[in-house]
Amino acid sequence: MTYEMPPFRPPSEAYSMLLRVTRGCPWNRCKFCGMYKMFHFETRPVAEIKADIDEALRFYGDQPMNVFIGDADSPVIKTDDFVEILRYLHSQFPRIQRVTSYGRAKTLALMAPDKLERLRKAGLDRLHLGLETGDAKLLEFINKGATPEHMIKAGRKVKEAGFELSEYLMLGLGGADGWESHARKSAAVLNAIDPDFIRVRTMTLIPGTPFYEAYERGEYKPPTILDMLMEEKLLIECLDGIGSEFHSDHVSNLVPVFGKFMQDKTEMLETLAPVIERVEQNKDKLTNEPRIATVM
Ligand code: SF4
Repeated sequence: MTYEMPPFRPPSEAYSMLLRVTRGCPWNRCKFCGMYKMFHFETRPVAEIKADIDEALRFYGDQPMNVFIGDADSPVIKTDDFVEILRYLHSQFPRIQRVTSYGRAKTLALMAPDKLERLRKAGLDRLHLGLETGDAKLLEFINKGATPEHMIKAGRKVKEAGFELSEYLMLGLGGADGWESHARKSAAVLNAIDPDFIRVRTMTLIPGTPFYEAYERGEYKPPTILDMLMEEKLLIECLDGIGSEFHSDHVSNLVPVFGKFMQDKTEMLETLAPVIERVEQNKDKLTNEPRIATVM
């Protein structure tokens, strides 16, 4: 069996069939990210991907399922090729329920709207975008390669083309000194986009990454647990006028906060309140030791 799987997928795609159209990330320069360092970015030949789809059909049979397409920025490939892959996928698996992929905001912000519409019509349903933060200085510091304006443009274009949109935000990224700005400016960008899903993860330093080296040089002061809880509270307080689902669906997060804006906003804040109160009572014991990943 020669089937090739993407090495990473979002938690919400844990039970999805995984299909790889590229290897790696065409950007691969975000300071905090250690995900695709082992790959040079490559586009896989369409014939090879179709052979994987045939192999998957032999393995799964035709059954209702979701499909996640990797790796980090699938819309960067030729739209004609992506459309051909999507059509073949749907022809082989007519009972597919949802097809999703990661996409970079910069790629999508620069993409012609008709190309996005063609992908949507060919059966790509949802795009997962890494916003990380709406703070321009912080985006520059992490070398995200996109500004808040790119983030808003990309998010709106994705929605206008008819996709479901998941935006990923990194709690703790602002550090001890920047959490307030990170929360406020991220909320402003998310309010301007109104994505279908806001999904939060909490900053974990990865040894060997430029971000870890910046931390060692003292350029990033990790937040305390209280800073991160206050940051999440402020973020939720500032999110306004949107209909997004909020998912704290990652093992790195401190508190399982879930809900739909705007109706569950109070309930989400009430989930955080007792935890914040408890941590505040023990404030003198808090440190700002970072979380450091032991495996990747
Ligand atoms: S765009 Fe995503 S996968 Fe690529 S380097 Fe940045 S965080 Fe990592």
